[in-house]
Amino acid sequence: MFPQPFENLVNDLCRLPGIGRVQAQRLALFLFNREAVLNEELAENLIALKKIKLCANCFSLADDGLCSFCRNQNRDKTKLCLVETALDVITLEQTRGYSGLYFVLGNLIDPLAGFGPEKVRFRELKARLKDKKISEVILAFDQTLSADQTKLQLKEIIPSRIKITELAKGLPRGGDLDYIDQETLARAIEERKKI
Ligand SMILES: [Zn+2]
Repeated sequence: MFPQPFENLVNDLCRLPGIGRVQAQRLALFLFNREAVLNEELAENLIALKKIKLCANCFSLADDGLCSFCRNQNRDKTKLCLVETALDVITLEQTRGYSGLYFVLGNLIDPLAGFGPEKVRFRELKARLKDKKISEVILAFDQTLSADQTKLQLKEIIPSRIKITELAKGLPRGGDLDYIDQETLARAIEERKKI
């Protein structure tokens, strides 16, 4: 119906989460109408995404090898905060209330979505917890059934010498920062409780 490059772009945009065909067509038309230089920048940024690696230590986003947190000598290496996604790391960093290290599990156990324990980085976490400097693991998940199931599994994996705590209040879902303000989240880290 439309020129092939336009159709191709619509097909690509349709693959993004939450974008239907009509929305994709609207976005494609918006992109067509705007300054070409902005689209060139967007294209370059998309191509540059492949340069981003996952940190070998914690699976956060990294330029190369280790992420900026794992490389930072001033971070508290006795604390390891477990989160579901790299977005959660950004959410927690914005509170400025935490100075330890992170570990990104990638997924939480969610049988409804087909995410069993094999989709969660339990094996990699076990290896990471061999680091004798770690004395506390902080569970920072949102408050869902998946989080509860994942916690049960984690309690079996985490060696007994390590204290397990969790946030006094869960993380906002899907990076929804309006749901919980940074001050509240900082307090939730501060007032974390042993489980
Ligand atoms: Zn890292």
